[in-house]
Amino acid sequence: MAHENSFQLQNVRIGSDPPVTVSVRDGVIAAISENTTDQPSGLTIIDGADGLLLPALVDGHMHVDKTLFGQPWLPYPAGPDRDSRIETEKKLRGEFAAPVEERAAALLRQVIGVGTGALRTHVDVDLPIGLDHMHAILGLRDRFKDFLDIQIVAFPQSGIARCPGMADLLEAAVAEGADLVGGIDPIGFDENLTVHYDTIFGIAERHGVGIDIHLHDAGPTGVEELEALIERTRAAGLEGQVTASHAFCVGGCDERTFERLAAALAETEICIATHGGGASPLPPVKKLRERGASIFAGNDNIRDTWTPYGNGDMLERAMLTAWRSGFRTDTDLEIALDLASGAGAKALGLDGHGLDVGCAADFFVVDADTPAHAVADRPVRRMVFKRGRLVARDGTLTEAAEAGLR
Ligand SMILES: [Zn+2]
Repeated sequence: MAHENSFQLQNVRIGSDPPVTVSVRDGVIAAISENTTDQPSGLTIIDGADGLLLPALVDGHMHVDKTLFGQPWLPYPAGPDRDSRIETEKKLRGEFAAPVEERAAALLRQVIGVGTGALRTHVDVDLPIGLDHMHAILGLRDRFKDFLDIQIVAFPQSGIARCPGMADLLEAAVAEGADLVGGIDPIGFDENLTVHYDTIFGIAERHGVGIDIHLHDAGPTGVEELEALIERTRAAGLEGQVTASHAFCVGGCDERTFERLAAALAETEICIATHGGGASPLPPVKKLRERGASIFAGNDNIRDTWTPYGNGDMLERAMLTAWRSGFRTDTDLEIALDLASGAGAKALGLDGHGLDVGCAADFFVVDADTPAHAVADRPVRRMVFKRGRLVARDGTLTEAAEAGLR
């Protein structure tokens, strides 16, 4: 009997090898064998048409509750700096015509269509909205669970020390189901490193969750924040459970400081999440990896009051990161792709990611010669599979997937 998530995908290529046939059983890659065109009865056959098979993309840093994706164009409304963006968003977010659920769901559909199989989103925990956004995204995490693995970070966008009541709200967000606790620039924005770290590490330890903190501050302030994060991670025994998002300071410091930070990041297994583009210093991708430190990619803001850019496509993010890093060779473009896929899966602690036998059948097919070609070209995702179910074709959700989301 044919099962929905058991099939044979014939005539697809992996890497630069000749075409193969991939057998999927109950949503898992059961075999990868020499290509066949046999059509045994009782088995669902899908023709890959000589496409390139790539493992699901992982978007390691999003803000799906902020997005205006699918909404009318909003000219960039804020000033040139972080503080202005925070204030502008607070002023405008009550005026958006569509509720958080609707805007975020439009973006989630989009990312499924471009081959993202898992993501981590920061969700604003703020005043006066309290946990409203958190409740909306927790609901979507459940509604989309067969299509996307979603991790939620409780994010104190307006700070902790400077925002009375925030520590309790953050703790409540984690108690209600957020997977990690977030933070933001403990010195440069919150102006109280001790209170900031005491709060988030306290919540992490009490609830057994990881930490993913925004560190935008560059220069000595950023380095001080990151070194304190490293120290706190060691003291709390949270190695492997902490992410520093952006960590622009790692991209803008002198050699000696870089080497010290890279060694400590590798030792404490603190990962760096990068959005690659923009005008800020980019942590040096290859140098970090060569020193054993982990770096992965995410789209960050997509079409919201913070930025007019973004379409949710992690192949595009890989291309931007590669371009920004000065990558040209296939080997380097494959590193950029890894940031948007395998490295992200590892950092997020996802099991069974990849194109090996035993991995989840989370993958997609594109028309490209090699993975490097796919990064450069960002072709349409012809077919996207999640746990062995065809969920999207040519960027659009299948009818069955849409039915499953209702
Ligand atoms: Zn962010």
